[in-house]
Amino acid sequence: MDSESVGRRIGIMGGTFDPIHFGHLMLAEQIRTSLHLDEVLFIPVGKAPHKSLANAADKMQRFEMTQLAIESNPFFKISDIEIRQKGTTYAIDTVKAIKKTLQDKDELFFITGADAILQLESWKEYAELIQLVNFIGATRPGVDPHELSDQIERLKFQYGAKIELSYVPALAISSTDIRKSVEEEKSVKYLLPESVEAYIQDNFLYRQHHPMLYKMK
Ligand code: ATP
Ligand code: MG
Repeated sequence: MDSESVGRRIGIMGGTFDPIHFGHLMLAEQIRTSLHLDEVLFIPVGKAPHKSLANAADKMQRFEMTQLAIESNPFFKISDIEIRQKGTTYAIDTVKAIKKTLQDKDELFFITGADAILQLESWKEYAELIQLVNFIGATRPGVDPHELSDQIERLKFQYGAKIELSYVPALAISSTDIRKSVEEEKSVKYLLPESVEAYIQDNFLYRQHHPMLYKMK
């Protein structure tokens, strides 16, 4: 087949990435290879409607950590489309904006972990969103795969959602656990790329006390 006549297959990996870890990277890479995607676009969310944390990294820091993490993978790209915006950002608006930059024959695959799929009906204009792009609902430790597959079947039936279940290797890693470990000065080695670990240290992220300020007291 003439390569000009087929569209590009693009994955979208949205997340707070506070910080990005091997759970995110493994998920994106598994889906990239199994669905033969041409690239995966990592989109750090601007301000997530569901999240507000006292010790969170700011959006520029989350963007920079994501940039560092994907550096070694030529198929991974990053977009600042959400962090450039003020206020809360929504997947539906982001997807529509990205679609405008693509050709009609290009296809988008929104990559999401099981916990996100279970909450999908709390997203803005979710019914439109799940018809607009293909969704990939990936298994994640902490969510029963049967519950995930029931939810996917229901979303398909109820809204005509274009959504598929994908089994990915189980990595029980979460940003919440990493932030907590950093705060408690426990090791986070092998949970995330070394470059991101170094960035967290250099920028004193997720600590209660900035060590310099602490010493000056
Ligand atoms: P937090 O604990 O702050 O919520 P998180 O680890 O859940 O962070 P997010 O940035 O919220 O990370 O997740 C972005 C996307 O990646 C979501 O769709 C989530 O389900 C998925 N994801 C995150 N970690 C994993 C993992 N270990 N395995 C599979 N999917 C994951
Ligand atoms: Mg999460």
